[in-house]
Amino acid sequence: MIQVLSCIAFDHEPWILLLAATCCVLGSWVSVQLLGRAKATKGTHQAVWTAVTGIVAGTMIWTTHFVAMIGFDPGVESGHDVVLTAASLLVAMAGATLAVGLMTRKSGWYWPEIGGASLGLGIALMHYWGMAGYVVAAQVSWDQTLVASSVFFGVTLGVIAANQLMRGEGLGRMIRGASLLTASICALHFIGMGAMTIMPDPSVAVPPSLLPDEVLVLAVVVMMAIILGVGASSYFLDTRSEAHAAELYREMVQSDQLTGLPNRAFLTAQIDRELGEISARNSRIAITVFNLDRFKDINEVHGYAMGNAVLKTVARRARAVLRDGEVLVRLGGDEFAALKLEAERDSVVDEFIARLETALRKPVENGGFNFRLVASFGVVTFPDCTGSADELLTFADQAMFRAKRSVTSKVCHYDPAMDGSKRSERALVMDLHRVLERDELVLHYQPQINVASGRLVGFEALVRWNHPKRGMVPPGEFIPSAEETGLILPIGAWVLREACATAATWPGHLKISVNVASAQFHIGNFAQLVAQTLADTGLAPERLELEITETGILDNTLGTMQVVHQLKALGVTIVMDDFGTGYSSLSTLQSFPFDKIKIDRSFVSSLTTSKQSAAIVMATMILANSLDIPALAEGVEDEETLDHLKARGCEEAQGYFISRPVPLHQAQTMIDADESQAGLEGRKVGRFTVLG
Ligand code: C2E
Ligand code: CA
Ligand code: CA
Repeated sequence: MIQVLSCIAFDHEPWILLLAATCCVLGSWVSVQLLGRAKATKGTHQAVWTAVTGIVAGTMIWTTHFVAMIGFDPGVESGHDVVLTAASLLVAMAGATLAVGLMTRKSGWYWPEIGGASLGLGIALMHYWGMAGYVVAAQVSWDQTLVASSVFFGVTLGVIAANQLMRGEGLGRMIRGASLLTASICALHFIGMGAMTIMPDPSVAVPPSLLPDEVLVLAVVVMMAIILGVGASSYFLDTRSEAHAAELYREMVQSDQLTGLPNRAFLTAQIDRELGEISARNSRIAITVFNLDRFKDINEVHGYAMGNAVLKTVARRARAVLRDGEVLVRLGGDEFAALKLEAERDSVVDEFIARLETALRKPVENGGFNFRLVASFGVVTFPDCTGSADELLTFADQAMFRAKRSVTSKVCHYDPAMDGSKRSERALVMDLHRVLERDELVLHYQPQINVASGRLVGFEALVRWNHPKRGMVPPGEFIPSAEETGLILPIGAWVLREACATAATWPGHLKISVNVASAQFHIGNFAQLVAQTLADTGLAPERLELEITETGILDNTLGTMQVVHQLKALGVTIVMDDFGTGYSSLSTLQSFPFDKIKIDRSFVSSLTTSKQSAAIVMATMILANSLDIPALAEGVEDEETLDHLKARGCEEAQGYFISRPVPLHQAQTMIDADESQAGLEGRKVGRFTVLG
């Protein structure tokens, strides 16, 4: 101990020691930031960030050691062997890069700690390698115990640093990590230096050093500054562009460009948040959906520009009368919705609606025309009516339509007996119980293509109910009921088996996508069911893609994560469906190990007509790219959209323009056509031509 302390206190030049310490602290901080980048990215991006982090950290470790060495005064003539000293820099970089690679491995286990240990070993190797190149006019002997302790402390502190960095939380994690990293480097250096005893011996020849120490210090520090600068600026540029894309995306997804009001996604998120808290607070909220009567006439007679101007005025006026705890959004077209919190009494709700109604009744003047507007309001209150945010909005919408039809009342409160078609729905649910027994389900298949080559890459299996009286019932009409009643479990299992069995008969490069409802994830043995189905049908796991939506995940995040990992272990691909429609698509994407995302059709189908959709698709692709996740655009309805996607480097596409979902025999025809095209032309360029 005394040996080590006296080595720090007496044998090192203080100002150079201070310089070494500054390099070490600064470099550790930058390395820790870069490590965060390496951890957050995937694929090629991750490889690049790993290398950058390793190079910066290695340089920092080496500079610290080398500068401290220059400040070290052995009392006799000394010098550094250029080749060994340079080689020790490479050792430091390689060790640090390996360590970062290990620390950022995605699977849990002890990889961060193993990475930390290899970082400590890398520092040790660099230190003693560098020392081997240190020539002094003396006999040098080593205290083996101190050498062993230097390695022990360096490695142990490296392990703790990595553990804190990769498993800790918040800013404290970064500060602790960087400090521990600094500590690890210092422990190794000073204990290692203390282990060395120098007995002057003039007979040992020291080749004259070429450069004075001061010039060397300057050169080393400048190099360190450049490397740190490059590392830090690339870090900030990368996070800025990603943060910018994320910000743009968030704004776009939640606001309406024409009126500047928030949009439906924003409102549903607000409502969802309130629904969670209402029962605890014992309060009530009111939701109203309203629509301008005969707005279509304005558009048709005076043109869209006039229509837009009117909508803007309406939005501005309605917003002007809002008070605290009230939110107004535009749902689309001439349809708006508003939310009122703390609406305990009916009179509060009535006053709220009356206020909006009065604001809208004032005539709108534009371009010499005077428009008298009337709006119809549908109202629903929670918890008087229960349901999800979407259901509540649907209820308010149904009530609004009744108000529109009515001549006497422009405001209607939702009434289950009068709104909607609950009765026929109930009859359908009764039938749904026997759907499997009667073998009435069928799968249709919608092709997915590679955008660049136009070749088929797979199909999405979409279920239909071939009802004896109603004909083909689309999934939107029975999947929600199946989810409510739990029937989705046997139905989902049937779909999975049928789809896998079919795909097993197709050429081996074609994949099959199957939609998975959230309930299926939570039954506990879903991964087992998938494994069994794959084994029974003989389909290779890499060919199965499971599509899950964000709602499915958020229902039960922890449990879902576990199932997702089990499925990935099987080799199955996990796809995020309907990307962009959920409130937190972004954070879900960042926290879940998805293999692919499907950009929702609502954005894709309006890609060429709406600037907003185009921006969302663009931002989504930048993000997907930075996470190295391929994207599939669904809902491609025309050639122009496909060309846009191609120009923007979107990997895969699906949509009516390529083909609608088709029965199995037509899917088979498409496969045959694709195969023979490929056979004839080698690699076909252009769009997939067989339409269903
Ligand atoms: P989804 O997963 O988003 O499936 C895509 C839907 O978009 C399909 O509707 C498809 O016909 C439609 N579509 C495809 N291309 C276009 C296009 O270019 N334009 C437009 N406007 N639409 C397009 P489908 O078959 O009616 O399915 C509706 C939803 O029902 C699916 O949405 C999915 O959420 C659910 N679903 C279907 N099959 C299953 C199933 O086996 N299990 C579960 N849990 N849900 C299913
Ligand atoms: Ca889907
Ligand atoms: Ca979808």
